[in-house]
Amino acid sequence: MGRVRILVAGGAGYIGSHTVLSLLEAGHQVVVADDFSNARPAVLDRLGELAGRPVPCVEVDLTDPGRTDAVVAEHRPEAVIHCAGLKAVGESTDAPLRYYRTNLDATFSLLEAMRRHGVDRFVFSSSATVYGDHAPVPYLETHTPLAAANPYGRTKVMIEQVLTDHAAATPGLRVALLRYFNPVGAHPSGRIGEDPQGVPTNLMPFVAQVAVGRRERLAVFGDDYDTPDGTCLRDYVHVVDLAEGHVAAVEHLDVQATPVRAFNLGGGRGTSVRELFDAFCAVVGRELPHEVVGRRSGDLPAYWADTTRAADELGWRARRSLEDMVADVWRWQSQNPDGYPA
Ligand code: UDP
Repeated sequence: MGRVRILVAGGAGYIGSHTVLSLLEAGHQVVVADDFSNARPAVLDRLGELAGRPVPCVEVDLTDPGRTDAVVAEHRPEAVIHCAGLKAVGESTDAPLRYYRTNLDATFSLLEAMRRHGVDRFVFSSSATVYGDHAPVPYLETHTPLAAANPYGRTKVMIEQVLTDHAAATPGLRVALLRYFNPVGAHPSGRIGEDPQGVPTNLMPFVAQVAVGRRERLAVFGDDYDTPDGTCLRDYVHVVDLAEGHVAAVEHLDVQATPVRAFNLGGGRGTSVRELFDAFCAVVGRELPHEVVGRRSGDLPAYWADTTRAADELGWRARRSLEDMVADVWRWQSQNPDGYPA
């Protein structure tokens, strides 16, 4: 596949922005569509600086079908990468209607606009959360039934189903479902990275904010799990590896084995909370404040990806180490202690 014109929905967000950069580096043409509900306009300046040319961006609420149609009509993408969506697990339990409406409506708008304008390649940001609480570890793409444990995860399960049904009714449509494990890290330049609004709920950004003094100490949620060091194991994947996974997936769509195909994007191994925390302390050069507290409800003890399919079919694997992940997060966080400028 040669140079492709790609609309990146949610392209100003954490994963979207790194994906935009990897797409540009691979020679593709990109238009960002984002409503900036959880992203900063400064991201676009940084992307332009890193890419050496301005990155076109449209501010649009993708839940609005008319406006979404106008964006697709104007920019005529040949593929859409859909990374736009609400993603906070806890918030999704407090405001389920908002989560279902936003995540599903944005997908409907994009698919309808694509149908109207003859766009037939779609890459979707899914999540390992679709495997639910009972899938055997390591997780395999063939596992069914999908069953997430919270409304956020259920929007992912539902959208995967919508895409499967829609593709069955739409000859020529090709869809890649990218099931992310735990994305962490930042671009090695330190210019783009994760900038959560409010108190971070994820481990890595929380540790990074402890390191720059924005949070007092890390609470380790339980050290009495049946794991080697008692803390939970997760499959952390560097966001630049993940971004390269999007490039591989979009370039592979035309020869994909089936019209809709799921791919696990993870490192293929479990890393404990303690290992990640220790690696972060090592890169900062001091022991960071932390305390062990009780388990967080809903946490699974351990899971990671079987990444054979992505390796065999996309030729993709995560290449960056835990040390790369923490070093890159530390560079980003220490150079931008308060995240992007407002
Ligand atoms: N975790 C923790 N303290 C925190 C945030 C997370 O100990 O402040 C643990 C959490 O219990 C889990 C792991 O870190 O075992 C990864 O959590 P995160 O929320 O980043 O990702 P999840 O896998 O839960 O989506």
